[in-house]
Amino acid sequence: DSPYYFVQGKKGEDQVSDAKAEVKEIGKGKTNWKKLRVWCRQLNGVWESGAIQSTSGEESFVSLSNGNVVKVSASDLLPANPEILEGVNDLIQLGYLNEPSVLHNLKYRYSRDMIYSKAGPVLIAVNPIKDVPIYGKDFVTGYREKTTDSPHVFAIADTAYNEMMNGGVNQSIIISGVSGAGKTETAKFTLQYLAALGGGNGWIESKILETHFILEAFGNAKTSRNDNSSRYGKLTEIHFNELGKISGANIQTFLLEKSRVVQVPAGERSYHVFYQLCAGAPPALRERLNLKMANEYNYLIQSDNFVINGVDDAQKFHKLVEALGIVQICKEQQEQAFAMLAAVLWLGNISFQLIDNEHHVEALADEALTSAARLMGCAPHELIQALSTHRIRAAKDNIAKKSTLQQAIDTRDALAKFIYASLFDWLVEQINKSLEGGKRCVGRSISILDIYGFESFKKNSFEQFCINYANERLQQHFNRHLFKLEQEVYELEGIDWTKVDFEDNQECLDLFEKKPLGILSLLDEESNFPNATDFTFANKLKQHLHSNSYFKGDRGRAFGVRHFAGEVLYDTNGFLEKNRDPLNSGLVHLLSSCSGQLPQTFAKKMLDQSPKPAISSDTPRQSVGMQFKGQLFELMHQLENTTPHFIRCIKPNCKQVPDTFEDDLVLKQLRYCGVLEVVKISRSGYPTRMTHQEFAERYGFLLLETNASQDPLSISVAVLKQFNVLPEMYQIGYTKLFLRTGQIGALEDRRKHV
Ligand code: ATP
Ligand code: MG
Repeated sequence: DSPYYFVQGKKGEDQVSDAKAEVKEIGKGKTNWKKLRVWCRQLNGVWESGAIQSTSGEESFVSLSNGNVVKVSASDLLPANPEILEGVNDLIQLGYLNEPSVLHNLKYRYSRDMIYSKAGPVLIAVNPIKDVPIYGKDFVTGYREKTTDSPHVFAIADTAYNEMMNGGVNQSIIISGVSGAGKTETAKFTLQYLAALGGGNGWIESKILETHFILEAFGNAKTSRNDNSSRYGKLTEIHFNELGKISGANIQTFLLEKSRVVQVPAGERSYHVFYQLCAGAPPALRERLNLKMANEYNYLIQSDNFVINGVDDAQKFHKLVEALGIVQICKEQQEQAFAMLAAVLWLGNISFQLIDNEHHVEALADEALTSAARLMGCAPHELIQALSTHRIRAAKDNIAKKSTLQQAIDTRDALAKFIYASLFDWLVEQINKSLEGGKRCVGRSISILDIYGFESFKKNSFEQFCINYANERLQQHFNRHLFKLEQEVYELEGIDWTKVDFEDNQECLDLFEKKPLGILSLLDEESNFPNATDFTFANKLKQHLHSNSYFKGDRGRAFGVRHFAGEVLYDTNGFLEKNRDPLNSGLVHLLSSCSGQLPQTFAKKMLDQSPKPAISSDTPRQSVGMQFKGQLFELMHQLENTTPHFIRCIKPNCKQVPDTFEDDLVLKQLRYCGVLEVVKISRSGYPTRMTHQEFAERYGFLLLETNASQDPLSISVAVLKQFNVLPEMYQIGYTKLFLRTGQIGALEDRRKHV
């Protein structure tokens, strides 16, 4: 029994039937049809604006804005909004909330550099991909002093801050969107505003801002979609004291893309910090680390991309060192961290030679190997031994076996990934120590979540599977909050509303999470079988889940999931391996015996996390899928104790260029991030809301008989009566009038023709 309800809309209402009804009305000559603005679907699927010239009900002649007159059937027509609604701040104000109208409104604003709009409680931010002068001090002041109220990320941060200060309730700002949509920049602007509001208490706020730089160096990379793409999710929690000043902060990260360290797709780069180190390290450090240029390391050469247009990696390295100092990571620790990076790079250059006729190999004791061993703090022969053997379980013993080339390469890459991911976690830990602010005040925090949005590519793998699962969880949080808010508005205004269940995505979440027959559990079960393959996993899913309506079996290795944002086909190739993320127990042993402090710390943390003693061939630990699920549950629990504010970032084009708005791409994202869902929800209720006063002022003059009573409510009621607005088309609240879709359009039409 879902506790969430929503106002029931017109039965079976949908946009097309709305348009048909409207067009039929025109046929009967009831409406002044010549004035009707419409959206007209072209053969290529694009919606063109136009005006109806004549109609027979099912078919109409429409003159398009380009001057052409075309014959179209009613199903290719949607009503357009009257001119006064052009470019409104809030999409909910639109009389007609169909897709072309929503899209047109965003495009209209975007072309005027109004990158922010609202969709009810949600802020939509369309990435300008150029500097727009709307973040300066004057804007901070404007929003702080409320002299401006146009939609803006500052306005969201301001609301969150005030709700926290006045209500003593923790707040969260949840930012989502596809890669390159502007989430990370938006998070930075949010922080900048909060720092301006809650700053002045020393330099804690500048420290928080510096952490961005460090985490971007280690966690961001150039991808085909974004030159500065975050390859992890991040929650930044800012703590305030009783007076509303920033007292400390804490950062949590999610699911770093480790594979990038050893595998870089063509045209992309590995993590920024590698190139920064190679380009910017001063001579003495270079010598100590035996550092070469980026193009001498195999892990980096895989992609021929070493530089990013307009970015100076050497200069960024100096900035990085400065930022590390500001968050109190001392010179010695910095050097240890850089040594780990150099060790990872040298690991990638290690090569192997055949040692017998059974294809067994051994690592060569060349410059790469000796450098890596020295940087980690172990003897070269120990590293050779660890890389050239793998362990298998025989009876109760764990015995070392010689490795084949592929096994040795996998072991080496696993070590590189482990060191890098551990270094990243260690850095976050150090940063958190330096941001800690002593005793915390209850209900005085704002959390900013910058997390990857829904992804659906041609080929979707384990990463997309995890990301989309996270988005499914966040969407549920979003829906529930939204419905609750809507419900509150109606209750507050004393509006009669019929309770109906709303479609929750719980069933889809169950498909992922149910035990023992959810995808994650089945994945774990299969990951534990030594002989399992991607095919046996895919078959297992089909066998157990074929009757689930959110699941779709597919040919071969693939399976589909019906997500809220659309169906995604996943290729199980690599699922088992990525979920196990094995680390040979020989490697853990090697790291714990290194003289370097960081390798020891990494190994210890790993052993502390292992549920069982390390007797199997791989050090046992929780699977990646289950770890992620646990993290998500914790995150949701944390968010549920906050008042959420949602920002949906939209990427206007794929080319990373300014002033270009691709309709299809934007529409797809509006669907993915649930904005059209918000709009749909609102359409089923009473989207147009005007105070009695506003309504009376705008339409009161249309009254034929002057009303004896001059109060706004009586005037409003008289207007509604005079124009035969049907009782089911509106409701009168204590302070506002609530109107169904389209009603305002008709009134505006009358208003214009008086
Ligand atoms: P990913 O998921 O790949 O991390 P993202 O959503 O975090 O992507 P950002 O890195 O924030 O995307 O933005 C991509 C680029 O777009 C930025 O590097 C910047 O050039 C530009 N950009 C984003 N937001 C703005 C803005 N508000 N004003 C100007 N430029 C922006
Ligand atoms: Mg980002």
